[in-house]
Amino acid sequence: MPISIRENEPLARYTTFKIGGPARFFIPTKSEEDIIEAVRFAASQNLPYIFLGGGTNTLVSDEGYRGVVIRNEDRTVSFNGPLVYASAGAILAVMVHEAVQRGLSGMEWAFGVPGTVGGAVRGNAGAFGLSTYESIYRVRVLQPDSYRVRMLDRDELTWGYRDSIFKHNPLIILAAEFMFTPIDIEQCKTNLELYLARKKESQPLGKECAGCVFKNPHIQSFPKDVSLPIEFFQKEYVPAGWLVEQVNLKHHVIGGATISGKHGNFFLNANHATAADVVQLITLAKERVYEKFGVTLEEEIVYLGF
Ligand SMILES: Cc1cc2nc3c(=O)[nH]c(=O)nc-3n(C[C@H](O)[C@H](O)[C@H](O)COP(=O)(O)OP(=O)(O)OC[C@H]3O[C@@H](n4cnc5c(N)ncnc54)[C@H](O)[C@@H]3O)c2cc1C
Repeated sequence: MPISIRENEPLARYTTFKIGGPARFFIPTKSEEDIIEAVRFAASQNLPYIFLGGGTNTLVSDEGYRGVVIRNEDRTVSFNGPLVYASAGAILAVMVHEAVQRGLSGMEWAFGVPGTVGGAVRGNAGAFGLSTYESIYRVRVLQPDSYRVRMLDRDELTWGYRDSIFKHNPLIILAAEFMFTPIDIEQCKTNLELYLARKKESQPLGKECAGCVFKNPHIQSFPKDVSLPIEFFQKEYVPAGWLVEQVNLKHHVIGGATISGKHGNFFLNANHATAADVVQLITLAKERVYEKFGVTLEEEIVYLGF
């Protein structure tokens, strides 16, 4: 089947912020062949391209994106003992849920993380001190310059806190294999429920947002004379939500965007916000935090079309 190429497709509906203008071209893909065809199409038009997973960590500009947005809609997940294969387009929570039903432990923490496997691998999504890379076995990638498909073994990958080789390299993630640990099924389910309960307690779930806007800055990035609570020294990172709260920006509103009262790192599209509203709120939070703490917050969210 030839790929379907849509022109001027509104992107807001493909993001959890529900914000943003159209893509010049938008191509949903269901297979690796489709992806290669979509990348070739972008090259033939001399346009940049970008992959969109669940759009749960992305802010699209009000003007949209003047390139090709490729959306991987292959949701394949398959199991071979403790080894799990998931297409980059697979929904992360679905993979985790299916693993837990089989008593496969390792990513129970990720059930409450929306988006796709591709997005989680690129951003090394994580929570509660755990992250995606701890369970990764290998990653199937496409090299866009040569259209070569190959497997990257775990020891060829580099990653860090919300960071991976894929943030510094044009490789396209096609799929990932995860290695889980078989444990008692009931224990696995309990783990998932405990993590989910902790997440619900601290985060405004079900709202139009993109999760945490900022990465948590490392304790060593603060000037020496800034006083911080002792527990942050043990954890090494200072929660960005706490910093935003300290500069009294919880509940702050600009246009239709507001900072959550429940979690200072969650910026919400509360009332038909524009991307410009969100960017103003982000700028304000960065300025205030810098003035008070001497640290520059770095975005975890991805900007598209700015
Ligand atoms: C309510 C809520 C709670 C959240 N909680 C958490 C949390 O606890 N922990 C956490 O880490 N994050 C959290 N997030 C953020 C988000 O869910 C994660 O970052 C998620 O992994 C993003 O996946 P996605 O598919 O939506 O990525 P997208 O937003 O679609 O894309 C993100 C980036 O990945 C790139 N990308 C996507 N697919 C591919 C691919 N196949 N190849 C190459 N690049 C690709 C995109 O180009 C983009 O640069 C939360 C978000 C929300 C809305």
